[in-house]
Amino acid sequence: MDKKLLDVAIIGGGPAGLNAALVLGRARKKVAVIDAGRPRNAVTSEVHGFLTRDGISPSEFRRIAKGEISAYPSVSFVADTAVSIMGTDGRFQIETEQGQSFTSKKILFTVGMKDQPLSIPGLAEVYGKSAFVCPYCDGWELRDQPLVIITKGAMLMHFAPLISGWTKHFTICTNGPDELTDAEREELLLNQVPLFDSPIRRIDSSDGIVRQVVLKDGTIVPCTGIFFKPNLIIGSDLPQTIGCEITEWGGIVVDEFGKTNIPGVYSAGDAASQMHQAIAAASRGALVAAVINGNLNTEAWGKKDDRIK
Ligand SMILES: Cc1cc2nc3c(=O)[nH]c(=O)nc-3n(C[C@H](O)[C@H](O)[C@H](O)COP(=O)(O)OP(=O)(O)OC[C@H]3O[C@@H](n4cnc5c(N)ncnc54)[C@H](O)[C@@H]3O)c2cc1C
Repeated sequence: MDKKLLDVAIIGGGPAGLNAALVLGRARKKVAVIDAGRPRNAVTSEVHGFLTRDGISPSEFRRIAKGEISAYPSVSFVADTAVSIMGTDGRFQIETEQGQSFTSKKILFTVGMKDQPLSIPGLAEVYGKSAFVCPYCDGWELRDQPLVIITKGAMLMHFAPLISGWTKHFTICTNGPDELTDAEREELLLNQVPLFDSPIRRIDSSDGIVRQVVLKDGTIVPCTGIFFKPNLIIGSDLPQTIGCEITEWGGIVVDEFGKTNIPGVYSAGDAASQMHQAIAAASRGALVAAVINGNLNTEAWGKKDDRIK
């Protein structure tokens, strides 16, 4: 038996990859978590809505997770970026940016999603401090405050009633044509939600806290927080490079067990779901790890070399 052969190479060490590593480590599988260390929530200082960890910082979350996983000696952490994957189910070769090579029976992509550059001047300064993307993550902290919602079209009609559960004082800035029907505009009017479609000139802030949104037509909208719809791309182009089917929203197509269309390749977390929350990512990581473990055990069943010694 090839003693260096990994059971699972986990590409990405956010909540999804780390929870998968915990489950696989406890199942005595040889695992490497290869992580470039650029999680999407790095811009923020608190993770909310994760039972027993509500309000923890993202870096502390990862520190505790790695400490717990370290109890399982078959899991190793590799601070590097996977740049190429060759081979097939049972024997994939992974190369990294720093020239390391790994061979693994299975691949689990937990590469997350990442933001495309923010095009509105001033948004980067407040992102993660007073401008957020998900009300379940940060709505509580902005409750009852005067907010600006930056989005348009169908997403706006989803977002507006949702946000109204946290504050009644919000204004919509569509930053260009609103892409709404007359009926949708009427609905916003009935709910007394102000809407501006002038492009946004800039966002003014102090120490990361937004003060006002300035529109190109001269309108100034005072506010203390923002929710906006980010443009996301998958955290790595490796899944696509090796032939994984991609969804219309840019994630990886998986079945209910996290299997991609490529035998031996799985995915979990933000990259394979539109529910972008840490606990949801961790939950899927745990589930898909159990699926991979079950598959490995079934494949090894009866093969003398692979029995636990
Ligand atoms: C501003 C903001 C605030 C948020 N607040 C909350 C919150 O309060 N509560 C909550 O539940 N969720 C929150 N989220 C969402 C949460 O951060 C994500 O749902 C969660 O991090 C997804 O976990 P993941 O493991 O799928 O991906 P990630 O945490 O993004 O981790 C992916 C990892 O894969 C690595 N990677 C990518 N490609 C490669 C490669 N080729 N080789 C090696 N490594 C690679 C990345 O560097 C990264 O470390 C927030 C998100 C944002 C943007």
